[in-house]
Amino acid sequence: MPGFESITDQIRPALILNTFIRNGVIPHALLFTGMAGVGKQAAARTFAMACNCLENRPDESSVNSKKPVSSEKPESAGPCGVCSSCRKILSNSHPDVIEIKPSGPYIRISQVRDLCEILAFKPYEARIRAVIISDAQTMNTAAGNALLKLLEEPPDRTILILTATEKSDLIQTIASRCQHIRFNPLSRKKLAERLVKSKGVDQSSAGILAAMASGSFSHTPALSDKSRIKKRDWLLNEIESLSLKETGKCLAFAERLSRDRDDFLDSLEIFQIWFRDIAVFKYYPDKIVFMDISDKTQTASLRHNEKVLISKFNEIRVARKNILANANLRLTSEILVLRLVQSNSPG
Ligand SMILES: [Zn+2]
Repeated sequence: MPGFESITDQIRPALILNTFIRNGVIPHALLFTGMAGVGKQAAARTFAMACNCLENRPDESSVNSKKPVSSEKPESAGPCGVCSSCRKILSNSHPDVIEIKPSGPYIRISQVRDLCEILAFKPYEARIRAVIISDAQTMNTAAGNALLKLLEEPPDRTILILTATEKSDLIQTIASRCQHIRFNPLSRKKLAERLVKSKGVDQSSAGILAAMASGSFSHTPALSDKSRIKKRDWLLNEIESLSLKETGKCLAFAERLSRDRDDFLDSLEIFQIWFRDIAVFKYYPDKIVFMDISDKTQTASLRHNEKVLISKFNEIRVARKNILANANLRLTSEILVLRLVQSNSPG
């Protein structure tokens, strides 16, 4: 299985990582950015494996050197996946591959302090020790400062791999000390393939579900069944048919939307795709996401002018921002629903 080609659909990151290994130039710190579920973690692990694969021996003298990366020799330098080192990393039991994740909402100073203590010693057995810090943007200031010290005086034979959604989410002094590799959203085709392969979803549902996942595999587990399509149909029926005159019904719908935060965020995404589809349909009817309900989209596109669509889009964006900022869910939902259905009311 492994090798860098296993980094699904991320051709450029795979190419860059492959080049590091092939040239034996391992940077001190990497920053992988991109939305959740596009393979950053998996890539970090694969890279840690490649750095230590017993079948793969880069020239140790050049580790962490500043030799420029070239892209001549195209052969793969990915890990074998079967040697004892690769197997230990795959099974999460390699002593020199350290993973740090937020504990609760944050990565805490104590976690970074513990890490510093470990890194003060030499690696046990790894050629290159790998520290994978997931969601590095969740580090509080104290933790960030402690990490910065590590980046300023990088420990011997160690690579730090940070992952985050956006480079701008990190403290600038940290981001600037890492080599940045951007991961793209997964293509619809690749997502659909993975749904069929790993979740046993049938082809036609996989197409629709992949379209709804907005390029991220981690968005798909929640929708890897027909209930997600049902949910979409319910949401769209309500939002298109409710009118301001039925305030009670609007508020009841808002209440149902706001019961669960993640579910609410997910509903917003569906609304966003829907209104985008309506806008896109006018010019490129073959480029809409919800192909299976294109009749409904066509009808809706006759009713919505662009100004209204843009304002609905903005309302959804504002609601999303408020939810992420821990605003009251019920209130956010009520405001959103009333604004979205406003243009449904005749006159
Ligand atoms: Zn190996």
